[in-house]
Amino acid sequence: MRRLLVPTLLLALCAATPAAAQLPIFDAHVHYSRPDWDVYSAERALAILSAAGVRRAIVSSTPDDGTVKLYEKAPKTIVPFLRPYRTRDDMESWHSDPGVQTYVEERLQRGIYRGIGEFHLSASGAAGPTVKRFAELAADRDLFLQAHVDDVTIEKLLTLYPKARFLWAHAGMSSAASTVGGLLERFPKLWVELALRADVAPGGKLDPEWRAVFVKYPDRFMVGTDTWVTSRWEAMRDYHRDVQTWLGQLPPDVAEAIAWKNGERLFSIAAGDEAAERRSRPAR
Ligand SMILES: [Zn+2]
Repeated sequence: MRRLLVPTLLLALCAATPAAAQLPIFDAHVHYSRPDWDVYSAERALAILSAAGVRRAIVSSTPDDGTVKLYEKAPKTIVPFLRPYRTRDDMESWHSDPGVQTYVEERLQRGIYRGIGEFHLSASGAAGPTVKRFAELAADRDLFLQAHVDDVTIEKLLTLYPKARFLWAHAGMSSAASTVGGLLERFPKLWVELALRADVAPGGKLDPEWRAVFVKYPDRFMVGTDTWVTSRWEAMRDYHRDVQTWLGQLPPDVAEAIAWKNGERLFSIAAGDEAAERRSRPAR
């Protein structure tokens, strides 16, 4: 009898706390910038992604060489976005800097990129000449623009540049679920990623307002880590464990869409091959 006790107890414990379903993850917000390179080799960075359950990831970096380095090691895992910052000094002024425009147009000729960003912008810069040019390039070459902006600015961008597809970083960082839902309703070329949005599931419990928006627009959301400082690479595994917890509280088809199917669909490898030539045309 005694010998049976331990296995029985273990079985009871397992039944009480079933392991959360581990969905593959498409991570829409990863950086591999200069300070990261010395700490994590490209191989190590790829191993961290894999250990966190990340099947594919949108990567951008300052400077862009980090993205290219990762992409060359794992072209089927890395979805390269071209960050328009040659150095961090470009962050404030890029929207009206012709040098940034030239840099991006030259760099795009590599033909590997699926988007431009992540970039930062306030509403006052949204009509800047470099932003306008990026929107033309995005529409012309099927590129996404990944914008770290507030809700006023994303609305302005979507209104000014209706032909470009936007990936809204951090869902505006602090915009309410209802605001995000309202913008998704009005703008069909808007997609949203949820990097660093702890308010989606405070204490691990999915917020009802976010849940309602996810269920209404399951095809428009993606998750993301944002390795904006090197220490975020170490946190990636725990971060995605928490993401899996709230995804598990959604209907399975909605959870799968947000976890990875939306990213797979929008940045499919086959479509990428076909479009590569078009994307690498010299700028007109
Ligand atoms: Zn970022």
